[in-house]
Amino acid sequence: MASVFTKIGKLFGVAPRKFKPQQVKPALLPDAVAQATGPLERVYKLKLKGNDDPFLTNPIKKGPGTKEQPTLIPSVFDRRIVGCLCEEDMPGFNWIWLYKDQPKRCACGHWYKLKQVKSPLETV
Ligand SMILES: [Zn+2]
Repeated sequence: MASVFTKIGKLFGVAPRKFKPQQVKPALLPDAVAQATGPLERVYKLKLKGNDDPFLTNPIKKGPGTKEQPTLIPSVFDRRIVGCLCEEDMPGFNWIWLYKDQPKRCACGHWYKLKQVKSPLETV
């Protein structure tokens, strides 16, 4: 059975050309990293360096959580909201605001303290 292209070629009196993969030159398109600019470029650079948390949003494991040894929460700003999973089977988080130099106790008794850090995006 003749292909559609063959039929069309016969209809117009043109012989269909055979496609040869060797004739196609490989295209050199830049990948997403090469095309990225601005903050996105810095995010890609951090990920290439192995930093998967450029915005400091990954879950943090709780430390001892005492008043003397609070769990340190990194923040670029003077305050940050934190969701405490007080119990493992809790359906939601207990959200608390942390402020610079003000350790805060969650309703479950766990202490948190803001630790000011430089933005990872500024280090690239
Ligand atoms: Zn809690």
